[in-house]
Amino acid sequence: MRTLQSASLSPTAAAMPFDRLAAELDARRAAHLYRQHSLLDSPQGARVTVDGRELLNFCSNDYLGLANHPDIVAAAQAGAKRWGVGSGSAPLVAGHFSVHEAFEARAAAFVGKPAALSFVTGYMANLAVITALAGHGDAVFGDKLNHASLNDACQLSRATFRRFPHNDLAVLERLLTITPARNKLIVVDGVFSMDGDAAPLAELLRLAERFDAWVYVDDAHGFGVLGDGRGSLVAAGLDSPRLIYMATLGKAAGVAGAFVAAEQLVIDYLINFSRPYIYTTAAPPLLAEALLVSLDLIERESWRRERILEHVASLQGSLAGRGLMASMTSIQPLEVDSNKVALGLSAALREHGYWVAAIRPPTVPTPRLRIILSAAHSAGDVAKLGADLRQLLDRPLDQSPEQPA
Ligand SMILES: *Cc1c(COP(=O)(O)O)cnc(C)c1O
Repeated sequence: MRTLQSASLSPTAAAMPFDRLAAELDARRAAHLYRQHSLLDSPQGARVTVDGRELLNFCSNDYLGLANHPDIVAAAQAGAKRWGVGSGSAPLVAGHFSVHEAFEARAAAFVGKPAALSFVTGYMANLAVITALAGHGDAVFGDKLNHASLNDACQLSRATFRRFPHNDLAVLERLLTITPARNKLIVVDGVFSMDGDAAPLAELLRLAERFDAWVYVDDAHGFGVLGDGRGSLVAAGLDSPRLIYMATLGKAAGVAGAFVAAEQLVIDYLINFSRPYIYTTAAPPLLAEALLVSLDLIERESWRRERILEHVASLQGSLAGRGLMASMTSIQPLEVDSNKVALGLSAALREHGYWVAAIRPPTVPTPRLRIILSAAHSAGDVAKLGADLRQLLDRPLDQSPEQPA
């Protein structure tokens, strides 16, 4: 009989699990799906230093150009002076500061909901709400293009999870008709993160009312941008207690974290039953100080949103008929034929001093460049990208620079 010790010391046995990991990584490389970090050595902005080189940045989700805003930086510094750095505890134990409370009240009022609750990240907020509101025996319905964190949350909820084709209300209606579940939750992105288009929120709410369901809207890409900055629900003119709203604060708001806004009853329920809320350390209070200033800027400086719209019109003009998807938001995806073309174009753009992400399956169903327009860009930045990208698209791929393996 082999002893436990000799089995665990056998070199081949020890190598086995490593071989499996290496083989899976090799397969990813072969499929042009291997992922690596780029190293930033400057703050976010229109121009960033990446792997030692300055690039014009069309990659980050800093839509309003607030990630390095001096007033927000100053608020964070003053916040650190006043509160220190760490929150020290989970929110229900000893980590919920008066400035967290002030931010939540301000955020709720801003999006027109009675109450709000803050979270350390949007990913956590999605896990928190969906696993609290739906469980075994319930049904959750998600759009096929929902963000990965929503899909993870729906799966972890242990409810029956059904996905409907993108924005397909007829299929959703059929699923709602046939489900035996009494507790039903419809889950969508307000603005879809990889296509830049919007969910049909008014129609979704009508279905929810007819079938007595909740609607959860993840507005990571609408908050700060649509509805005068107040997000997708305000933009659509919708106000219903069934609508539960989530905004992330690391994108347009330029800081970090997320908040959920809903009826007070829903917020009280989350505080009591949501494990991802209860069992994690609260965000540093200095971030809430920064976020209060960010909200002021989002509310006051509508020129940032107007500038994004001008950039969208400019890029759509430059790249009409060249694979640019019809999006009216900062997210401007350019569809291409293959992962290889996506990587080749991204690399060629980098040669020319631009930073544009190639997004590939499994993140998206079809490969694309995801161009992000920000209020931090000038009209000249966007015009230059449009012109250079048009030229690259006219060039056969094999003339483009060396592609990463
Ligand atoms: C970025 C994003 C999240 C996650 O938010 P974080 O605060 O980055 O964790 C959730 N949903 C969508 C649609 C996102 O784009």
